[in-house]
Amino acid sequence: MTLHDVVDALNAHQRFLVTTHQNPDGDAVGSLLAMAHLLRAELDKYVVAVLPDPVAKRYRFLPGLNTLVLPRIAGKQGPFDALVTLDVSSPTRIGGVNDLIKPGMTRINIDHHVTNPRSDDVCWVNTEASATSEMVVDIYRELGAIPTPDVATALYTGILTDTGQFAFPSTTAKTLHAAAELVEQGAAHEQVALETYRKTEAKNVRALGQVISRMQLFDDDSFAISWVSHDELDVDHEGFVNTMLDIDTVEIAALIRPLDSGQWKLSMRSAGMVDVAELAKNVAGGGHPLAAGGTLKAADINSALASVTEMCLKALTSARG
Ligand code: AMP
Ligand code: MN
Ligand code: MN
Repeated sequence: MTLHDVVDALNAHQRFLVTTHQNPDGDAVGSLLAMAHLLRAELDKYVVAVLPDPVAKRYRFLPGLNTLVLPRIAGKQGPFDALVTLDVSSPTRIGGVNDLIKPGMTRINIDHHVTNPRSDDVCWVNTEASATSEMVVDIYRELGAIPTPDVATALYTGILTDTGQFAFPSTTAKTLHAAAELVEQGAAHEQVALETYRKTEAKNVRALGQVISRMQLFDDDSFAISWVSHDELDVDHEGFVNTMLDIDTVEIAALIRPLDSGQWKLSMRSAGMVDVAELAKNVAGGGHPLAAGGTLKAADINSALASVTEMCLKALTSARG
């Protein structure tokens, strides 16, 4: 299915529930804000934009954040005839929003993850897109709508963060054109860079230091692994795993953090030799070839570390042939 199918589906429905994935990143929040605005202001639809989880502090500067609600509130604002998910690679990733899906609602999926199962009613999965926000730029263009400066800021944030500040190989000329157009439309690019990358609370930098000091390296320093402890759970750990991948010898970096009841969240990054989206399938997850995640069950942190280490070292051995 294509962009046109999505546009037809957006035009064909009236009452929208719009959402994104748990632990929303910049692309999740940016594409959600922009889609909610498009439906509401340009297509004159009834829209409730719901977040499965609160937004990390670094994204709280985004204009329009106060229009987003949590599932408890959204549940009182139905009924809805369509659900739009943005940047959601798997139905399991929308948390409490799942309870708001009723039979008869058309599910529209706009995403760029290779592991997306494409099981919704209308799916547009463009794995060439650097970010779901880049796809939303296409939808605006297709509908002849021009992002407001606030929407441009949201979409620019999505593209900047999902491309690792235009550094990942997913960055294309089209990506850079889209970003340039957003700046022309009034995206506050300097503020976005400052808020999302340059300014952070002291506790986050301290926790990064702790996580890096616990890092273990294996296999001639080609695999790096560390973890976030229970008492560091209130820190913003976005980017921690990338710091381990910065090491020139590291091919796979992995970060584990505790969830509830014996479950652990795994984040993986690859320098290119191993497709971590494939590896993530072993841990009920998914993502992109160079950035993926999932969850695993383990009695304690040591057994979680051991099983992830075993999985990654095996993948490195087989990738080397
Ligand atoms: P993270 O490590 O959480 O930053 O995620 C890296 C990439 O993998 C992102 O594009 C996520 O959307 C994707 N991802 C992370 N966790 C999961 C999961 N449990 N299921 C599917 N995709 C995931
Ligand atoms: Mn995302
Ligand atoms: Mn994304």
